[in-house]
Amino acid sequence: MPDLAQLRVDALACTRCPLAGGRTTVVFGEGDPHAALMVVGEGPGREEDLAGRPFVGRSGHLLDRLLLEEIGLRREQVYIANVVKCRPPGNRDPQPDEIAACRPYLEAQIDEIRPAVLMTLGNFSSKLLIATAEGITRLRGRTYPYRDTDAVIVPTYHPAAALRGGGTVLAGMRADFVRAKGILAAPAPPVGSR
Ligand code: SF4
Repeated sequence: MPDLAQLRVDALACTRCPLAGGRTTVVFGEGDPHAALMVVGEGPGREEDLAGRPFVGRSGHLLDRLLLEEIGLRREQVYIANVVKCRPPGNRDPQPDEIAACRPYLEAQIDEIRPAVLMTLGNFSSKLLIATAEGITRLRGRTYPYRDTDAVIVPTYHPAAALRGGGTVLAGMRADFVRAKGILAAPAPPVGSR
């Protein structure tokens, strides 16, 4: 299996789906490659596409705040990635064929990082990693296994929804981040059991 550095090299040259044609940069992901917490969003927006980094706009600032205030982690202590690595034009939703084409990068990132907790932000990452058709409003508030690993998925809203939707959505997100903190604080499984 390629390591994170090789995966990044591969992704930076990727033309597997039509999103390659409209991107400025590939937003592979960033953070601690040994992070216990991995955060997975949807896809790059305009600012991320220009910067080549995930969650650097207003949504990113809110994510940073929630990580620090509710879990006590700075963003460089977690790993942040997206379902699709290239910006969908006009910030439209990523299409099923684009998600399918990009999925191996995300799955390989998770396999490499082996986080204890996967926080999925919004519908796209939650549905993909939980493997369900349910929407985020029904999914959040509970935890889910990630495939046959010990990683626990904690789905929550996308920060953009909190910026649009106000206090109720934000309160839900805070509760989900506290849930993730509780799992991170639990004793690790015995060595060799993962
Ligand atoms: S979105 Fe993913 S699959 Fe599509 S071109 Fe970018 S890196 Fe490749």
